[in-house]
Amino acid sequence: MSSVIENTQAIQFYRPDYHVKTPDMRSPEYVQMSTAAAITLGLIPGKMHRTACTHCLNLLVTYPEGCRANCAYCGLARHREEARDYADRNFIRVDWPTVRYQDVLARVKAGADRGQFQRMCISMITHPSSDADTFVLLEQWMALLPHIPVSILSNPTTMEKADLIALKRLGAEIFTVALDAATPTIFERTRGKSVDSPHRWEKYWQAIEWAAEVFGPERFGVHLIGGLGETEQEILGVCQRIKDMGGHNHMFGFYPEQGSLMEDWPAVAHGQWRRIQLARFLIDYAGGHISSMAFNAAGQVLDFGLPADRLADIIRSGKPFQTSGCPGSDDAEISACNRPYGDSKPSDILSFPFALNELDIEMVQRQMAGELAQKT
Ligand code: SF4
Repeated sequence: MSSVIENTQAIQFYRPDYHVKTPDMRSPEYVQMSTAAAITLGLIPGKMHRTACTHCLNLLVTYPEGCRANCAYCGLARHREEARDYADRNFIRVDWPTVRYQDVLARVKAGADRGQFQRMCISMITHPSSDADTFVLLEQWMALLPHIPVSILSNPTTMEKADLIALKRLGAEIFTVALDAATPTIFERTRGKSVDSPHRWEKYWQAIEWAAEVFGPERFGVHLIGGLGETEQEILGVCQRIKDMGGHNHMFGFYPEQGSLMEDWPAVAHGQWRRIQLARFLIDYAGGHISSMAFNAAGQVLDFGLPADRLADIIRSGKPFQTSGCPGSDDAEISACNRPYGDSKPSDILSFPFALNELDIEMVQRQMAGELAQKT
């Protein structure tokens, strides 16, 4: 962490109860927020490597008893009950300080983000109170800050279609589903009965179908993790299916979360990651289609199905390699939600939380060329 944030002590300072359990800090009175959001709001001092702020206020519902699921790659999983305090667990690699929600609302209302936030996102967890508390957080946000659109990162396991309808009615703009795994086998192995976790592949796809119906085109998305053991063709098949339904794909590179069941797994290979980042961008934004792409027997992309000069222009834009997620108000192809260093170290960036410079693009090209897909 010290390489990501220049002043982690400040987080401890902001939480005076850092060394004790926090039985009273629960949503909706409290939320956790990403370190990047806390820095942007001026709640903690510190500077992110090569990026001054985030344009998305990422919030997480919080309960002392924590998430009841047990996903193998997640830092919040139940098996980590040995962690001294649920709020001390890391999530997508970074710390999530706990704050009073009314303070968050007041600070944003007063402009403490200096106009940087273009989106707010509520991440749900698997907990009996998560659905109801998400409604409360959303309602309070819309009453005070309706000009900043809200995304919901849902927990399909505890939700019914009526919940999506209610969220839309309360003002949520985008509904997303963290499918994470690209195949039913990997889903079961990492999030299902095999790891004593309650999630079911079928329920997640049902929620995606509800989202397409209730929220409509361009207003729903799916989170996917590249590098959980799927082939490039498999994960891009899901991207195409989501695009065909009218949604977008938000990609995360697998990076082993310390303390998770998969902490000893290798991070996603560079070549594989760059190819799926590029192909995902082509599918979501550049008129690409998986049926025009060519794959080898191992499911690696051999041909992206675009004329070489057009492909080179898109690569040189750097956009495919930036963090993918819900849009902001500037460029629909660029995510407001840049999740700085949520899937990699600053010294070896998988999802760039900022626009790439020429050196970054050269490095990305070398990574793709260095692990060229085998033809057979
Ligand atoms: S991409 Fe970001 S804003 Fe959108 S749902 Fe995911 S975490 Fe939330």
